[in-house]
Amino acid sequence: MAITRREFLQYSAATGAGVFLGVFDLKPIVAYAHTNPPKWASEALSVGCYCSGGCGIIVGKQYLSGPGYAGDYVTYVQGNPDSPINKGALCSKCTSSAQLSSIVSNDAGKRIPNPGRLTEVKYRAAGATDWTTISWATALSQIAAKVKATRDATFTEIGDGTPDPSGLTVNRCTGIGCLGGSSLNNEPAYLISKLMRSLGVVYLETQARN
Ligand code: SF4
Repeated sequence: MAITRREFLQYSAATGAGVFLGVFDLKPIVAYAHTNPPKWASEALSVGCYCSGGCGIIVGKQYLSGPGYAGDYVTYVQGNPDSPINKGALCSKCTSSAQLSSIVSNDAGKRIPNPGRLTEVKYRAAGATDWTTISWATALSQIAAKVKATRDATFTEIGDGTPDPSGLTVNRCTGIGCLGGSSLNNEPAYLISKLMRSLGVVYLETQARN
C-alpha cells in the first residue's frame, strides 16, 4: 500500500504518541527483533556521503535475488559508535543512505535493488527532450571540450575593458563558475580550487561545512 508523505507523518505521530502513552506494547516486537537478528552478508566501515561532517558509518549488505538481479546490496546503515566524530549518531540523510542501493518495494513488499539508481551517464543534448546513455570517456571528453571552448572565449589577460579597465594583468576567466558540493572535505575542496584558479576562474564557491 502506498502512503503519502502526509499520511506517513500522521501515522508516525500517532504511533509515537501511542508508544509514549503506553497504548502500544512493544515488548513482542523487541523480543522478535532479538530472536531474529538481521543476517548481513558482510559489514564494512565507511564515512557518510552527504556532507563533509565525515560521520563514521557501519554499512551492512545482504544477498538479494529476484527477476533480473542477484547479488549483495546495501540494506542497512547505522552510525559507528567508535567514530570520534559522531559516536554512533547519524542524521536522517546518512541513516537513509542504504536506499541508494536498495529499497522496500510497495509492489513486491520486499527489499529490492533501487530501480532509480543511476549506474551510467545520462546525457540530454541542448534542445532535446530525451536522455541518451553515453560512456564516461565521452562525457569527460565533452566536459573538457566545453570548458576549453568557454575559457578560450571568455579569458581576459589584461584588464583593458569592462569590468576592469586598469590595464593590469588579470588572467581571469569570467565565463565559468564553480560551485562545490556539501560533501567536499579539505582535500577535494583544495584540489578543485587549485584546478579552477589555474583556469583563471574567479567565481568559485563551495557549500562545504569545514
Ligand atoms: S549527512 Fe549527517 S550523518 Fe551524514 S556525514 Fe553529514 S552530518 Fe553526518
